[in-house]
Amino acid sequence: MQKVAVIGAGTMGNGIAHVFAQNGYTVNLIDVSAAALEKAIQTIGKNLDRQVAKGTVTEEQKAQTLANITTVTTIPDGVKEAALVVEAATENVALKLKIFQDLDQHAHPDAILATNTSSISITKIAAATKRPAKVIGMHFMNPVPVMKLVEIINGYATDKSVTREITALSEKLGKVPCVVNDYPGFIANRILMPMINEAIYSLFEGVAGVAEIDTVMKLGMAHPMGPLQLADFIGLDVCLSILNVLHDGFGNPKYAPCPLLVNMVTAGYLGVKSGEGFYKYTPGSKDLVVSPRF
Ligand code: NAD
Repeated sequence: MQKVAVIGAGTMGNGIAHVFAQNGYTVNLIDVSAAALEKAIQTIGKNLDRQVAKGTVTEEQKAQTLANITTVTTIPDGVKEAALVVEAATENVALKLKIFQDLDQHAHPDAILATNTSSISITKIAAATKRPAKVIGMHFMNPVPVMKLVEIINGYATDKSVTREITALSEKLGKVPCVVNDYPGFIANRILMPMINEAIYSLFEGVAGVAEIDTVMKLGMAHPMGPLQLADFIGLDVCLSILNVLHDGFGNPKYAPCPLLVNMVTAGYLGVKSGEGFYKYTPGSKDLVVSPRF
């Protein structure tokens, strides 16, 4: 397996392309938006510069990594020679089902089709294709070049040989794979999101303030970032949508999103990406300032 296609050149797609290209794979990075592709190549260049400055990558390796990536705007052109396609497009069920129908039609019949979805059922995505045994979850963490974990998710019909191949491949990329089965939230978000939701409930009920909740979890539990800051970093809209997947999927009220989270998302306070969530973010400033709303 030397040729890989990555669908979606956003936050995750550029990181996934970077990691494959740095490990010697040739990558077609595919996005419907030419602007997203241009930005992705700039981001990969900047991240490689940081690695060069740290001494973990040489100038030659940087040049080779960039040379291994080709940008493409349509799926049929981009996937036909790939042995593996990793889909990292926008988190939307209808969009992903359509992309997988297209991939099934245009990718080589032996190609493995992986998805980086955070919460959509792998079994459902696989069922949109005529090759469900070759569909698997390959859930990288953000930022991809830095984070070691790849959560590998077996759909109901995923063939064991495909799981073995993706596990070995993740190790070749320098990652640590963990294989789990396909149930709502998989493992990472099934455990993380209820913790974040409970932190938001603690704030909502007036048990403690933003800084106190995050400090307890940072200093008491050795978490590198408090749950409210982490929620801002992930995006409050993303947190809400994953909690809804858990709530709908299990039908258990313990996953019901906190009304404060629902209000914040409805009002457009989405965390880092909108400039304000539990904290207020000023461009250029590294200070962590609690939102004046709390
Ligand atoms: P993003 O919004 O940054 O990027 C999505 C990209 O997909 C955009 O550039 C968009 O133009 C492109 N796109 C949309 N429709 C397309 C199509 N039909 N064909 C090709 N490209 C298309 O999103 P992201 O944060 O990178 O998330 C991508 C996936 O990764 C989602 O499934 C998300 O759940 C998952 N994920 C995200 C994170 C995270 O921290 N952001 C972490 C783990 C997994």
